[in-house]
Amino acid sequence: MQPPESPTNEVDRLRELMSLGILDTPAEASFDDISELARHLAGTEIGIISLVDSDRQWFKSCVGLPLGQQHSPRSISFCGHTILQREPLIIEDAHRDVRFADNPLVQGEPWIRFYAGFPLITDNNFAIGSLCAISRTPHTLAANQIESLRRLAALTVQHLQNLRHSTLSRDHQLRLAPEMLPGLTRDDLRSLDQLISRDQMLKMLDLILAMETDARFALLRCRFRDYERVSATFGGLVAEEFINEGARRLIVALPKGASVARFADTELVVLLPFGVDTQDMQRVAERIIALTGQSYRNGQHSLSLAVSIGIATYHHNYKTVEDILSDASIAVQMARCMNGSSFRFVDAESRLIAKENYRIESDLRDALKDKLLDLYLQPIVSLADSETVGFEALARWQRGDQLLKPSSFIPMLAEAGLTAELDLLIVEKALAAMPLLARPIPQRQMRVSVNLSGLLLEDGEQQQRLLALIDDNPCPPGWSLQVEIVEDAFQAKTDLFERFLADLVTRGVVIAIDDFGTGYSSLARLISLPIQLVKVDQAFVQNLDAPADSGRTLLRTMIVMLRDLGLSITAEGVETTSQRDWLRAHAVSAAQGFLFHHPMPVSEAIALLETLDYRPRALAVDPQRLRAVRRRLRSNFWRRLSQDERRGHAEPPP
Ligand code: C2E
Ligand code: MG
Ligand code: MG
Repeated sequence: MQPPESPTNEVDRLRELMSLGILDTPAEASFDDISELARHLAGTEIGIISLVDSDRQWFKSCVGLPLGQQHSPRSISFCGHTILQREPLIIEDAHRDVRFADNPLVQGEPWIRFYAGFPLITDNNFAIGSLCAISRTPHTLAANQIESLRRLAALTVQHLQNLRHSTLSRDHQLRLAPEMLPGLTRDDLRSLDQLISRDQMLKMLDLILAMETDARFALLRCRFRDYERVSATFGGLVAEEFINEGARRLIVALPKGASVARFADTELVVLLPFGVDTQDMQRVAERIIALTGQSYRNGQHSLSLAVSIGIATYHHNYKTVEDILSDASIAVQMARCMNGSSFRFVDAESRLIAKENYRIESDLRDALKDKLLDLYLQPIVSLADSETVGFEALARWQRGDQLLKPSSFIPMLAEAGLTAELDLLIVEKALAAMPLLARPIPQRQMRVSVNLSGLLLEDGEQQQRLLALIDDNPCPPGWSLQVEIVEDAFQAKTDLFERFLADLVTRGVVIAIDDFGTGYSSLARLISLPIQLVKVDQAFVQNLDAPADSGRTLLRTMIVMLRDLGLSITAEGVETTSQRDWLRAHAVSAAQGFLFHHPMPVSEAIALLETLDYRPRALAVDPQRLRAVRRRLRSNFWRRLSQDERRGHAEPPP
C-alpha cells in the first residue's frame, strides 16, 4: 500500500481548510443533497464529501455508509491521493491497482472496489478535499458522468466558500431574539446558513435533469407579497431583514433534505428532492404558510410575511430548467391573485391564463408607449351644495371593446416597474385637459388631483420629469394641481422625497394623502411634512351604513384629529345619501363617490362644467341644462358597463 504524500503547500492548504470553518460541524441537508447527487450521477452506492485534515479525512457528508463513519486516517485515505492532483482520480478496480490493492478500506469495511475522487479546489487554488463516488464492485464512468461530477465538485466548493461568508455574518444573525418566533431555538435561527445561491440551485437542477434517471422532485417559488411595500416604505435594510426573517421561517417549515435558494430580492426557491405526491406538497405549503403567518415586528412596525407559493413538480415532464421555473412562476402569479398567503399548483388552465396575461402585458406596454391609456375624471364635490370643486384624474385602458380599470392593469405595470410612466402620462393628460375644462367657467377655483405611485417617489429622475411637466404646462387662472400619495409612502425619510415635496409646494401643488387609514403612517411624521389634505379611505365611509356604531365613532375621532391638525378632508367612495348627510353633519368639506358622479371621459367632464353658470358672489346652476347633461351622463355610463356590472344599476330612462 502506498500512503499519500503531503502536498508541497500543505501548511497553507490546511490554513485555507481551517478558514472555511467547516470541520466537525453538524450534518447539513444541502451537503447531503450533493452527496446524494454524486452517487446518482456516478451510479454507485456511496457518495461522500471528504475534507483532508492534517492526519485524518473528515466527511462533511456521507450517504450510503452506516452512520458514525465520519472519518478515517489520512494515511490510508484515497482522498489524500486525490488532493495531490487537479484532475479526478478514478480507480475502476482497486484490486488491480498496486497503490490500493492491500488498503484496509479495500480489504475490509467498507470494501471499496471502485473509487472516483474529484478534487475540491478553492478559489485560492488549494485542494482541500474531494467529492467521491464509491462502489463495492468494479465500475466505470462515461465521459458525460465525469463532466457532471466535475461540475458538482465545483458547486460543492462554491457552497463551502459561501458558507465562509455567512459564518462571518452569523454573529449578526444570532443577535435576533429567538423569542420573536415562539418555539424556535438559536439553532433554528442559524438555519439561514443553509441558504444556497441562485447559481447553485440552477446548477443542481441542471444536474438532476441531465441525469435522465427516474427523478421526481418539486420546485416551490415563494414570494413575499409585502416586500416591495416594505422596501419602499422602510428602505433596503429593513427589507433585507424582512426577507431574512421569511427565509428563516421557511427553512424551519421544510422537511429534511430540502434545499432553499435566495433567487431574487423578493423570492426564495425551494427544491424538494423527493416524491411529487400532491398531498405531501400541499402539507409542505400549508406548513410554510402557517409558519410565515404570524406577523413580524421590526422596531415599532408590525410587518406581514404573507407569502405566495407556486409549485411545479417534475417527473420526466420538463426538458429544461427554464421550463420548470417558468411553470412554477405561472403558479406563483396565480397565487398572487388571491388575498393573503396561498399556494397554487401549475396546471393547463393556469398556463393558458399566463399566455393571455403575457399578451395583455405586451399590449399594455404598447399602449403606454403610444400614450393610449386614457384620462378619466371623477368630480369631487363640495358637501355643502354638491357642486363640483375639482376632479380626480384616474387612468383607464380601452382594450378592444373593454374599458379596463386600474386594478386590472396597475399590478402588471408594477411588476414591470412602469407605474411611474403611467403617472407621468396621466399628469401630462390632466395638465393638457385643464385649459379645456376651465373654458366654460373661467372664474372658478378648481383643482385636479393626480395619483403618484411609490416608484415615482423613489426615483429622482422621474420626479424631475414631473416637475418639468408642471413647469411647461401652467394651470389656468384659478386652477391648481394636487398630488395624491398613499399613506405608507410618507414613511420614507429620504432627503430626496422631502426635497421633491418641497419642490412641488413651491410650484403651488397641493399635497394630499390618499386612502388615509389603510396604512401604517405615524402621525408625528405626517405633521412634519407639507401636507394640506387627507382623503379618507372609502372603507370608513362605507362603514357608516353598518348597524354597529364603532365605524361612526372611529370616523368621528379621525375627523376631529385631522381637523385639529389643520388638514382639509375629502371623503372617498360616498354611495348613499345617508353617508353624505352624516359627513355633511360632521363638517367634512368635500366628497367623491358614485352618489354624485362616476369617473367620466374629459369631454363629459367639460359638458358637466358647462352646466355651471358662474355669477359673481353666487354660484347658480341652470336646472334644465343640468338635468339634460345628467341624463346624458347616466346613459353614457350605462353604455360603458359590462353585462355583469349592469345588474347592480338601474337602467336609465330613455
Ligand atoms: P384612488 O386613488 O383611491 O381612486 C378612487 C377609486 O375609487 C377610483 O377607482 C374610483 O373609481 C373609485 N370610486 C370612486 N367613487 C366610488 C364609490 O362611490 N364607490 C366605490 N366602490 N368606488 C368608488 P379606480 O378608478 O378603479 O382606481 C383605483 C385606484 O387605482 C385608485 O384609487 C388609484 O390608487 C389607482 N390609480 C388610478 N389611476 C392612477 C394613476 O394614474 N396612477 C397611479 N399611480 N394610480 C392610479
Ligand atoms: Mg387617489
Ligand atoms: Mg383613494
